[in-house]
Amino acid sequence: MLHFGALEAGGTKMVCAIGNENGQILERVSIPTETPEKTMPALIDFFKDKGLAAIGIGCFGPVDLDKNSKTYGFITSTPKLSWKNYPIVAEFEKTLGIPVGFDTDVNAAALGEAVWGCTKTVKNSIYITVGTGVGVGVIIDGKPYHGMIHPEGGHIFISRRKDDPMEQGICPYHATCLEGLASGPAIEKRWGVKGAALSDRKEVWELEAYYLGQAICTYIMTLSPERIILGGGVMHQQQLLPMVRREVQKQMCGYVQGKGMDNLDEYIVPISLNDNQGAMGCIKLAMDAWKEKGEAQ
Ligand code: ADP
Ligand code: ZN
Repeated sequence: MLHFGALEAGGTKMVCAIGNENGQILERVSIPTETPEKTMPALIDFFKDKGLAAIGIGCFGPVDLDKNSKTYGFITSTPKLSWKNYPIVAEFEKTLGIPVGFDTDVNAAALGEAVWGCTKTVKNSIYITVGTGVGVGVIIDGKPYHGMIHPEGGHIFISRRKDDPMEQGICPYHATCLEGLASGPAIEKRWGVKGAALSDRKEVWELEAYYLGQAICTYIMTLSPERIILGGGVMHQQQLLPMVRREVQKQMCGYVQGKGMDNLDEYIVPISLNDNQGAMGCIKLAMDAWKEKGEAQ
């Protein structure tokens, strides 16, 4: 069976994995994200000489996904300055000599779930990660959606609740975007300690659910997904997901009805692939890149 490489390229760590055509992960290592000069050789070292057919990268961004662009496969305007304008796809193509699939980290996670997980029965879905940042991967007609660049669903504007103890969000670009108000670091800034230590503080999760509920109503009304997955470190708070569902119900005010809205327990769901969704999505990106290369020859 063919083997494929998967790279979940994150701002703090690079998760490298090897998988097969069934999306099974056979091997995995994690390497800290430092500068490209330091980190790239370690990544190449892991993937080389493994007889891989192709590799797929799910990358932090923003990234250029437009195959007709001169900067296709670049990490573009990231705040991680040493990676700014870094041609990550070309570097892997050059050093490994195999096809490279490329998408955003959240699109890869959304794709992993769409191919092998809890959204495989629907064609249109979104995957929201609430972690160090907030990101939204969008699958339309079974494919990761890009559009002009790629969706930046973490930076949509939402209304700050008037009694929020934090005056404004922590996003350097926007005063009240979702990421600035609801990411893990936003929770930590607001309450003075990390979210993991706040499990029994009801007000923390009520406010979090209020913001996530608002954003999800917007995604429902703009994208009309058939299922919504919530992942990321903050969602490890087990009590949060039911609270989010209740907020969606409340804030929608009955406007969108039927189908998923009648059964929110099955409409807004947790990850189903045990935090392998990102790596598995990268395997699928690699499989598609391999197939595309074969068809072009
Ligand atoms: P990343 O987004 O960097 O890939 P994660 O999805 O694990 O990584 O998100 C990390 C963020 O999630 C941190 O801000 C951390 O404080 C928060 N987090 C991790 N575990 C928990 C938890 N059990 N409860 C609440 N927040 C958590
Ligand atoms: Zn923002």
